[in-house]
Amino acid sequence: MMPVRRVCLVLGDQLSFDLASLADLDPRRDAVLMVEVMEEATHVGHHPQKIALIFSAMRHFAQALQQRGILVQYVTLDDPLNTGSVPGELQRWHASLHAQEIHATECGDWRLEHAIKTSGLPITWHSDSRFLCSRAEFAAWASGKPQLRMEFFYREMRRKQRLLLNNDGSPVGGAWNFDADNRKALPKKVMAPYPARFAPDAITHEVLTLVGERFASHYGSLEGFDYPVTHTDAQDLWQYFLDYGLAAFGDYQDAMAIDEPYLFHARISAALNIGLLDLRQLCSDVDSAYWSGSVGLNAAEGFIRQLIGWREYVRGVYWLKMPDYAEGNSFGNTRALPEFYWTGQTTMNCMRQAIGQSLKHAYAHHIQRLMVTGNFALLAGIAPRQVCEWYLAIYMDAYDWVELPNTLGMVMHADGGYLGSKPYCASGQYIKRMSDYCGGCAYKVTESTTDDACPFNALYWHFVMRHGNVLRDNQRMVMVYKNLDRMDAAKQNALWQRGETLLSRLDAGEAL
Ligand code: FAD
Ligand code: SF4
Repeated sequence: MMPVRRVCLVLGDQLSFDLASLADLDPRRDAVLMVEVMEEATHVGHHPQKIALIFSAMRHFAQALQQRGILVQYVTLDDPLNTGSVPGELQRWHASLHAQEIHATECGDWRLEHAIKTSGLPITWHSDSRFLCSRAEFAAWASGKPQLRMEFFYREMRRKQRLLLNNDGSPVGGAWNFDADNRKALPKKVMAPYPARFAPDAITHEVLTLVGERFASHYGSLEGFDYPVTHTDAQDLWQYFLDYGLAAFGDYQDAMAIDEPYLFHARISAALNIGLLDLRQLCSDVDSAYWSGSVGLNAAEGFIRQLIGWREYVRGVYWLKMPDYAEGNSFGNTRALPEFYWTGQTTMNCMRQAIGQSLKHAYAHHIQRLMVTGNFALLAGIAPRQVCEWYLAIYMDAYDWVELPNTLGMVMHADGGYLGSKPYCASGQYIKRMSDYCGGCAYKVTESTTDDACPFNALYWHFVMRHGNVLRDNQRMVMVYKNLDRMDAAKQNALWQRGETLLSRLDAGEAL
């Protein structure tokens, strides 16, 4: 084989034609390297649909590059010479292509980037320009701040990107954030659009067979795989959301409903995180939808806040604080993750719904992740590492840079409040208000201390009492502790006892 000038590594979550490491690629002298490796597919037990999505999208992207005349060295999982790891493959191809240079784009996982960086290979690293805020820019913004707040970061991003701004630079509608207008429960008469589905083609069928054979022990179903695996299909998914979802996203962003996994959510995170969609275009489309009058401000602002606020913010925190961030456990939790997280076999209807659809579709929307499965893990004092592993494994869109801060920081408050100002803890009343789950539940959401009382209620107060020494000083928890202090000792004791009973049942391996 002719020696090549440059090998450009493209990872499974970097399937973008605009990737920084591909920018100066010369098809006459350079080659792209793409590898399906066991280490990345198994460092946690990823949902089989997620592995299928990545391998299929990689194969489609390799084809698209080849159609542009680019030489692609594509290593399939079953290649007998496959070394099983990204650094191993880089070593092998660097040697066999006699490449003078290796170019790579920043990884989405500290673990992998560290492994590549310590492999001794001469790599030129490129910043991941798919994001709006580089690691260095975020570090500069965070510098000197003892605590970070997403809201202030978000305002800067809005100004920089000139999204939803008046001519004088002020926010349209007179406020930066319309969060309070994103919290309607779903009325019975409102129907969510049927989800856009994408039938597997020959490449995806081949990958589904491979994944079914090789990853049979991983939790989650392969059946009904319908995710987009090409840029064109991902664009269709996005357009579908613009046409049928975005307008109601504003009102029902926080709503949950039985057997409705998607409601008015875009379901784009899996495609976006692997490079099939372009963040700048998404933001510009939503901005245009607002100015054209086709969607209200609470929808447009709410959606843009997630994309340029939360998404960029959690990535910034991740790269600023890793690797120590992953060790955070400020409440000192040690309880094991209950088995029902992996099976969905629990009597709690909200948990059964959220976990069941996660195993089936590798998807749950934000409020299910935060206020159902996450809230339960927080209240029950589950060890953060185990919770993080579950989220990383189970969701189609989960990559360390986005999963870890959301889970460890936002859900478990295990970073001591660096990412978020207060724990997102809530009793069953919140779930009742935002969903129809409680009506179909064997537990009574109106009860707290009886045997059939909603477990979230006593666990909530147990959590509040258990961590009073830390949380009483939190300004945003003042009302909670006022309410606790108003209860008489007998009531507090009954809640504590019920909490203890539930926790010891979890420790005994019982499903609630
Ligand atoms: P929509 O509700 O339609 O939102 C639009 C987009 O906004 C999403 O596609 C996503 O790109 C972005 N977004 C919204 N909230 C966040 C957020 N908090 N952080 C980052 N991006 C956000 N998102 C992931 O992409 N990968 C993860 O591994 C992941 N893990 C999470 C773990 C927990 C515990 C929680 C609470 C949230 C997590 N999120 C994660 C954020 C959010 O739940 C998903 O992005 C969202 O559910 C994806 O579905 P959607 O595309 O229908 O999103
Ligand atoms: Fe969930 Fe409690 Fe409602 Fe049952 S009663 S669905 S456990 S919040």
